[in-house]
Amino acid sequence: MFSSYSRTLGSQFRRFQSTLVIAEHNNEALNPITQNAITAAKKLGGDISVLVAGTKCGPASASLAKAGGLSKVIVAENEAFKGFTAESLTPLIISAQKQFGFTHIIAGATAFGKALLPRVAAKLDVSPVSDVISIKSPDTFVRTIYAGNAIQTLTASDGIKVLTIRGTNFEPASLEGGSTTTENISSDGCATDLSTFISQELSKSDRPSLTSAKAIVSGGRGLKSGDNFKLLYDLADKLNAAVGASRAAVDAGYVPNDMQIGQTGKIVAPDLYIAVGISGAIQHLAGMKDSKTIIAINKDPEAPIFQVADYGLVADLFKAVPELTGKL
Ligand SMILES: Cc1cc2nc3c(=O)[nH]c(=O)nc-3n(C[C@H](O)[C@H](O)[C@H](O)COP(=O)(O)OP(=O)(O)OC[C@H]3O[C@@H](n4cnc5c(N)ncnc54)[C@H](O)[C@@H]3O)c2cc1C
Repeated sequence: MFSSYSRTLGSQFRRFQSTLVIAEHNNEALNPITQNAITAAKKLGGDISVLVAGTKCGPASASLAKAGGLSKVIVAENEAFKGFTAESLTPLIISAQKQFGFTHIIAGATAFGKALLPRVAAKLDVSPVSDVISIKSPDTFVRTIYAGNAIQTLTASDGIKVLTIRGTNFEPASLEGGSTTTENISSDGCATDLSTFISQELSKSDRPSLTSAKAIVSGGRGLKSGDNFKLLYDLADKLNAAVGASRAAVDAGYVPNDMQIGQTGKIVAPDLYIAVGISGAIQHLAGMKDSKTIIAINKDPEAPIFQVADYGLVADLFKAVPELTGKL
């Protein structure tokens, strides 16, 4: 009796579930993390809506028009969303939640999602659940804690669940095979003087981006200077790889901080990760240890990076890297 009652309740719970995915985009195109977030939303079950909020975000929202498994794409355009600040987007998300009664709100665990969703959760008076790597049920989530050194399974009792998901743990959802309706919503009241977007300078590169590259060559303090990163760029060009760095390399000014991988940088999980002159501190491992194959080149045989490496080369990088590049 009890089990059939709880099964009935369970199916009702699922039926009324409704998830809002917050699209990350640059008005022109979606950031691929949005597709990972849609996959996470599908694991929750129930209706899925995607919110595309921007200044002139028609192209970004249009790319969702044929995505399968979505109930609707909600679009909001307003000059206030320039720069996608958390302060301007939060009132929009709160008002969308009130209007549609979403039970779940999801974004990627990126700089964008990490800035936005804690604010949304605070305004809804619920606890955000960050860095989710697996969804067990609509209220039970698996997430990493202690910089990825422990895995926690938690059941959230808040009425509205606010989640950031790790893109590397959810396959990207297809943007083909369906037909989705678009609904415009009002963004009145979103202009704010709490913060003002002034400008941004984005680094341009012909190489794949760190978060989407299938191969990454990453350098640490062992490179000794920014100029020596040329060794890694040459190797990366042979492999069509992105180039990353440890925090020590970034802090020393060898390379810009958008290349940083780790606990306070980007989380990546490419097919191939080549760590060059990187010791393997836990904060660095937190950002790359889910890579499928890890190769480490380090002159110190005791370096902790060798504990997570599938292949290790104890060698001077200034000899080994040019030799490797020459053989490819
Ligand atoms: C709160 C917090 C957050 C952090 N977040 C991050 C983060 O996001 N990402 C991150 O990377 N770090 C992070 N750190 C820093 C982290 O603890 C380490 O200090 C950092 O990762 C070390 O970088 P590294 O391996 O390049 O340098 P080192 O630890 O100095 O290692 C350099 C390595 O290069 C090797 N080497 C030197 N010369 C050669 C050569 N000629 N040939 C081959 N090998 C050579 C050495 O043997 C050594 O193993 C964080 C720290 C804190 C406290």
